[in-house]
Amino acid sequence: MINSLRGFRDLLPPESDLFTRIEAAAREVFGLYGYQELRVPTLEKKELFVKSTGDTTDIVEKEMYAFTDGGGREVAMRPEGTPGVVRAYIEHNLGQTGRNGKFFYIGSMFRAERPQAGRYREFTQIGAEHIGNPSPAADAESISMLVRLLEKAGVAGCSVVINSLGCAECRKAYREILLGYLRGRAEKLCEPCRGRIERNPLRALDCKTDGPWLAQEAPKLSLCPACETHFSATQRLLGAAGVAYQVNTSLVRGLDYYTNTVFEVRSSALGSQDAVCGGGRYDDLVKSMGGPAAPAIGWAVGVDRMAMLLKDKPAPDSAPKTFIVAASKEAGDKAFALVTAMRAAGISSDFSNFELSLKSQMRSADKSGATFALIIGEDELKAGTCAVKSLKEHGEQKTVPLPDAPSTIQQLLKASSEKPPNP
Ligand code: ATP
Ligand code: MG
Repeated sequence: MINSLRGFRDLLPPESDLFTRIEAAAREVFGLYGYQELRVPTLEKKELFVKSTGDTTDIVEKEMYAFTDGGGREVAMRPEGTPGVVRAYIEHNLGQTGRNGKFFYIGSMFRAERPQAGRYREFTQIGAEHIGNPSPAADAESISMLVRLLEKAGVAGCSVVINSLGCAECRKAYREILLGYLRGRAEKLCEPCRGRIERNPLRALDCKTDGPWLAQEAPKLSLCPACETHFSATQRLLGAAGVAYQVNTSLVRGLDYYTNTVFEVRSSALGSQDAVCGGGRYDDLVKSMGGPAAPAIGWAVGVDRMAMLLKDKPAPDSAPKTFIVAASKEAGDKAFALVTAMRAAGISSDFSNFELSLKSQMRSADKSGATFALIIGEDELKAGTCAVKSLKEHGEQKTVPLPDAPSTIQQLLKASSEKPPNP
């Protein structure tokens, strides 16, 4: 047999249903905040990610599924969503033609990382991008929408950590200070950091090995007055929106394009892969990719990790309401029409195989978790009726004419949902 690839997994029911619920919650929240869906391709030109995400980032340097296609083109499976959204924004002139610059996406991302709990090579992200709004209210709105989404999906126990990385000007000055500092300590740095400090000294701050001690010891970035004002306004507005957060000046994000506000949402319930979401402002990216000057902010939340946090929550009952059973081939034709009629009436219904014995079909009915079995035996076939049998509680079986079956079941379901629960 042929197995799936390492790091690529099948989402089986009922876990697949968790994903559907999370996505449904997200769509509802996006609707409230005026975000519209943007579906971008899974495969793009490799240079899109190299130029936007950045060539010294882990994602691009080590984790990208990049290859030369049959036509000799250098392509890559998207490792993250922002570059494609920005490309689409520029390519379709969405700043002029779009409604408000607010877009969301839901889809698979691909990163060739070492697979482990909460880390896969194909995983699902839900992302939001707000392009063209420089105001701190856009930052606070984006972060508070994220918190709302996590709440709506039922994810609790998360903490929001924010920081500001300043603008290009703040960063230029800091880059020199940090570079001087790191050069003096090159022998203390890990191999990859030593190799890239000249190209991108800031990356060392986000390194899994060197980041922690550098956070303690390295000189800190100081914000220019405009960036300081932006960051404090963002915090004030987060307060106004009732969002709890912590400022952590050592938070740096692993992508090159971030400016000003950056943030992460973490959950202690996740263990070592504790990040649920990452995001921030990227005020210069659209312009640097050939578009108009369009400051922007966005985030991406990992659905796989959200699903881990929801795993133990009870799933809504997805069992069919009725299960149709037939005693003969002829009865099977009537039964098939009955399943169709039940579904048309909005009552979830299922059946197994009308050619099997009644006993075997009743076993399938029990296994399905259905509330009622509707049985067309020989007598019912002659009379044009079906027998209604509760599979949840003992009681009398009743017989109803086939055309009345949907309304009878609707009444029975309504009555049982109004009944107080057993003491
Ligand atoms: P990490 O520090 O865990 O590697 P990251 O900084 O690489 O995270 P981002 O690029 O910010 O992650 O992506 C946003 C979210 O996508 C993460 O918080 C996480 O929930 C999810 N995510 C990232 N990589 C993976 C992966 N390989 N498998 C599953 N989810 C992932
Ligand atoms: Mg990562």
